[in-house]
Amino acid sequence: MSEQIQNIPITKPWLGEAEAEAARRAIMSGWVTQGTEVAAFEQEFAAYVGAKYACAVSNCTTALHLALLAVGVQPKDEVITVSHSYIATANSIRYCGAIPVFVDIEPQTYNINPLLIEDAISDRTRAFLVVHQMGMPCDLKAILDIAHRYELPVIEDAACAIASEILWDGQWEKIGKPHGDIACFSFHPRKVITTGDGGMITTNNPEWDQQFRLWRQHGMSVPDTVRHGAKQVIFESYPILGYNYRMTDIQAAVGREQLKRLPEIVERRRYLAQRYHQQLADIPGLKLPTESAWSKSNWQSYCVRLPDICDQRQVMQVMLDAGIATRRGIMCAHREPAYQMETWSCGSDLLSKSEQAQDKSIILPLFHQMTEQEQAQAVEVLKKVCLV
Ligand SMILES: *Cc1c(COP(=O)(O)O)cnc(C)c1O
Repeated sequence: MSEQIQNIPITKPWLGEAEAEAARRAIMSGWVTQGTEVAAFEQEFAAYVGAKYACAVSNCTTALHLALLAVGVQPKDEVITVSHSYIATANSIRYCGAIPVFVDIEPQTYNINPLLIEDAISDRTRAFLVVHQMGMPCDLKAILDIAHRYELPVIEDAACAIASEILWDGQWEKIGKPHGDIACFSFHPRKVITTGDGGMITTNNPEWDQQFRLWRQHGMSVPDTVRHGAKQVIFESYPILGYNYRMTDIQAAVGREQLKRLPEIVERRRYLAQRYHQQLADIPGLKLPTESAWSKSNWQSYCVRLPDICDQRQVMQVMLDAGIATRRGIMCAHREPAYQMETWSCGSDLLSKSEQAQDKSIILPLFHQMTEQEQAQAVEVLKKVCLV
């Protein structure tokens, strides 16, 4: 009897008949781009996170671009953020012609270190773009305190953080309420719920919400949904420069089903993360991700820092040979050629914690359908490589 090697992926979206049926509903309706499904998804999403407004867009990168434009970021402005993030975070600042100013992270949470923010502020600073990395809430209380003192807007890159929570005035609240000025979410398949690709912008500011709706549809004065139902001929105009950043109704229909599954997905992820905590606790030198007393992660990713003696690439290769997919720690934008060729300095000499996190961490498999046996298999192999 040959033993079959079971390959364990890093992640797998949880999609099924409900999503397929929803996509079919949108397709058979004959209206497939932004329409009633998008409007319903926005309402349901806003209600879920507790925001006044939610505006659906094509992905989180376009969401971040519009958020930065809304708070007035202009060419040559500086935006304080982290290098240690998916490259889209810093790229969105550059789409505005602005300069990302990188601040180092706290090693335990992989999030921006609030103690380092004030030193990075200059008279050209226009906004903060902070990330809830891998679903772990960043220290918004401390960040907002600084932002208020300097009268600067705060945008939350919550790409990974749907269903993550933060303790706010004694209550657990969802990330995206938002606690800063604007929060941006992603529905890429690598995140907790997916629409294939997709994004959402939440805010409590009605003017910004209106602005997002104009921008996402070419700056068109009359949306096509209105013209379509009108009894009179309407000519649209284009008062501002807009973009095509729409979500389709097919995606939104899928997203509405994913939102229904979300509580179950997060419960399962928290359960599996707890098991990783327990089962990996006794590996000497291995550092586990930790929530603060005021934060609850959705565990979009479970990232561990390897013991000093371990080589990242070697550990990942041994695990891959055993059928277990891993990923290296979150990248640092300042190390990429697309950033190194720029003439502006982004503070890259002060990012040692970010660089160490990229070089010494790995992300372990974690997804809704992962079984306890699969998890045990991943733990066993990691233990073996770390203990030699
Ligand atoms: C995935 C991700 C993005 C980009 O999201 P898309 O929807 O793929 O554009 C931005 N920021 C962070 C932190 C991410 O993880």
